[in-house]
Amino acid sequence: NLSDRLEAIGKRLRGKGRLTEDNIQDTLREVRMALLEADVALPVVKDFVAAVRERALGAEVMKSLTPGQAFIKIVNDELVQVMGEANDALDLSVRPPAVVMLAGLQGSGKTTSIAKLGRWLQERDQKKVLAVSVDIHRPAAIDQLQRLAGEVGIDFFPTEPGADPAATGEAALERARTGYYDVLLVDTAGRLSIDEQMMDEARRVHHAVAPAETLFVVDSMTGQDAANTARAFDAALPLTGVILTKADGDARGGAALSIRQVTGKPIKFLGVGEKTDALEPFYPDRMASRILGMGDVLSLVEEVERKVDRQQAERMAGKLKKGKGFDLEDMRDQLQQVTQMGGMGGLMDKLPGMGQMSEQVSQQMNDGQLRRQIAIINAMTPGERRRPDVLNGSRKRRVASGAGLQVQDVNRLLKQHKQMQKMMKQFKKGGMQKMMRQLGG
Ligand code: GDP
Ligand code: MG
Repeated sequence: NLSDRLEAIGKRLRGKGRLTEDNIQDTLREVRMALLEADVALPVVKDFVAAVRERALGAEVMKSLTPGQAFIKIVNDELVQVMGEANDALDLSVRPPAVVMLAGLQGSGKTTSIAKLGRWLQERDQKKVLAVSVDIHRPAAIDQLQRLAGEVGIDFFPTEPGADPAATGEAALERARTGYYDVLLVDTAGRLSIDEQMMDEARRVHHAVAPAETLFVVDSMTGQDAANTARAFDAALPLTGVILTKADGDARGGAALSIRQVTGKPIKFLGVGEKTDALEPFYPDRMASRILGMGDVLSLVEEVERKVDRQQAERMAGKLKKGKGFDLEDMRDQLQQVTQMGGMGGLMDKLPGMGQMSEQVSQQMNDGQLRRQIAIINAMTPGERRRPDVLNGSRKRRVASGAGLQVQDVNRLLKQHKQMQKMMKQFKKGGMQKMMRQLGG
């Protein structure tokens, strides 16, 4: 995938003493291939490579003492620029109720995104939120929204079966006004492909509810097609932004690059999972480093901050700063955090260079195993946790029986602890210091 390819290019370049016009040509060809393989639209690839070439052949790279890094920085900066420099938040600064309308193909993730946005607006901004579905052709779609709204605790405006979509939107807006809602979220009908009737309906609904935000929802896994669909919706509706869903899948990167370039509209959010809290604001710089294979350290920090006891994180940061080792107490903290964050797979994906390891590790560490490991550590004395080396045969037997497990299980845990210790060391050399500074500060 794109990350791997660019990472490989970066590695090779880092080894080079100097860049010449020749090896810049080669490298650019590889960047081009990597982008095409990631399903970035061809015109976008062309512009991108041309921009990188121009800057790479300029003085900044040729004269640099570390041309490889300088080149990677150019690619990174260019990625950031194509994706829009900064995060664009929702703009709801209108007289309430502010209407947010979502449009996109069927299955792109509109209804799920309504629930995510509702939860987001309610939890983070304390907004009073009403949701309506004008997908009147599909009763199941309306039920789905009702169920999700109930799940996240926002209000739901019931839709009359067979009612006119625009009239339904208007009725919901009236309800939002009289009920003093801050935000009305409007879920619209989608088709499997672009179709005039769908666009026409979306335009009529848009006219009826006059949204503050009209967001195009697109599945990032659709790659090249994402750019074409974006173009069609952008022509039909005055879009104000994009939600890129299923960014937790494989093809991430490609669609993000194409869509911004094709529509000129900012990506505002990423959908990163099926659950209603799997929504992240879109930060172009983070996406760029994700594409470049550096892992999304900043997102990880946010997630950790949200879900993990802050003091625990600070204690950890202090230890790492002082250069103390990663002991079994730390490992237990981590295991507990991991269970809170939805398993090892999700966590590892976000760490620098650990993408490939994540599958292996998450197989090793399913929920039951995590709990067993925590039980083993709990059965140790504080001294043993701090200095696992003291665990001789008889201590191990005691710990194993305390946890209701075998000595092999204890040995396996100690081996895993050693691996984690090693990982933490590598981690510290890379982006970890920055992350820990943030956690500690
Ligand atoms: P709609 O037809 O546009 O309303 O799409 P839905 O909201 O019903 O979503 C279609 C499918 O995509 C459902 O199975 C969702 O759970 C799934 N989905 C939506 N957003 C995401 C996401 O960000 N990540 C993942 N993995 N799945 C998603
Ligand atoms: Mg739907």
